[in-house]
Amino acid sequence: MVMVKVDAVTKRFANVPALTELSIEVKDGEFFIMVGPSGCGKTTLLRILAGLERPDSGEVWFGDRCVTATDPGSREVGMVFQNYALYPHLSIFENLAFGLRVRRTNRKEVRERVTDVAKLLDLQELLERKPKQLSGGQRQRVALGRAIMRQPQLLLMDEPLSNLDAILRERMRIELRRFHDRLGITTIYVTHDQKEAVSMADRVMVMNGGRIEQMGSPEEIIRHPSTEFAARFMGQPPMNMWRASMEVNATGAALISAGSESSWTIPGPWPRIFIGSPHIWLGVRPHDLALASPGEVADLVVTVDVVERGGADEVFLHCRHRDETLVVCVAGTRRIPRAGEEVGLTVRLDRIHMFDTDTGARIQPLVGNGRAAATALLVGGELQ
Ligand code: ATP
Repeated sequence: MVMVKVDAVTKRFANVPALTELSIEVKDGEFFIMVGPSGCGKTTLLRILAGLERPDSGEVWFGDRCVTATDPGSREVGMVFQNYALYPHLSIFENLAFGLRVRRTNRKEVRERVTDVAKLLDLQELLERKPKQLSGGQRQRVALGRAIMRQPQLLLMDEPLSNLDAILRERMRIELRRFHDRLGITTIYVTHDQKEAVSMADRVMVMNGGRIEQMGSPEEIIRHPSTEFAARFMGQPPMNMWRASMEVNATGAALISAGSESSWTIPGPWPRIFIGSPHIWLGVRPHDLALASPGEVADLVVTVDVVERGGADEVFLHCRHRDETLVVCVAGTRRIPRAGEEVGLTVRLDRIHMFDTDTGARIQPLVGNGRAAATALLVGGELQ
């Protein structure tokens, strides 16, 4: 168990920047998940942490030990990858024991460690079998067992569940988190799967082009995305995003015009730099839109394009509003409009998000005396 610090790490492959001045601190015992589009540098960072790649500049610290130049075998790191590649000709017992045998650990200790790990991961009955006689989930548990045989202080996982079917993934997500809570090993985990990030992580890092877009708890990122990219990337279905304009009136309230029939007024105070109606990205999550009840004034009138069942009690309405498309999440228990129907929508104005179209930075109202938010806005958004 260890605190991990990555300090201003940069890594390039030929001319391709994989990571640029990236700094993070992962707390002792934390379950830290990295997400981001393909090629954003997730695996490169994991390989640097494992010692399989050297950064061009910057440092990596495990607790008070600088490990930037330490070889992988001396880092006390366990790794689980997508291709867990068990040795097919060896029994599960020998697969688990392999690392200790290579290090000539005495037989008694090997047996004790394998027994402990097998018990922990519920593999006792499978020790005499060969990998091909196991299910995908059981094999994945063996891979995890192999990674923790040497009692690592840090566990690195690169999409470990991506080869499993949907039901097994669901079960393994819960098992992995339970396992983590029991052992408390600092875990850094890469995934493309939003559900994994939201259900397992203490903290998520959204990456883009070798840099950090946002770090925070899954709830924080979903409720308060700090950039347009993070807003679009996290949350299922993705956030609806329109081009809109925003003007701050004399009372400090924002008037938002999203191409809809009526403008919306959002009480502020908002930074007065928006006097003059600049363009913004306006974001609304599908769960923050609702079908207007009979007699209720609609904020938007849309045409339903496709009705998609999201599960037992959710329906996603894919709608058109002039040239924009948007998704609305409604409860499956109410009357569901049909494709082609025109419906009125209400918007939860306390849940809308605004982003600067040039920088992608979040635009937020001034709070308290306004200074902190205004500073963040001016620095992040370079809007002065
Ligand atoms: P994915 O989600 O597709 O696995 P990733 O976020 O893990 O992607 P990386 O594998 O870290 O991304 O790659 C980051 C960038 O570095 C990419 O542009 C990739 O093509 C490049 N890259 C990674 N490894 C090498 C290598 N050994 N040689 C050259 N370029 C590399």
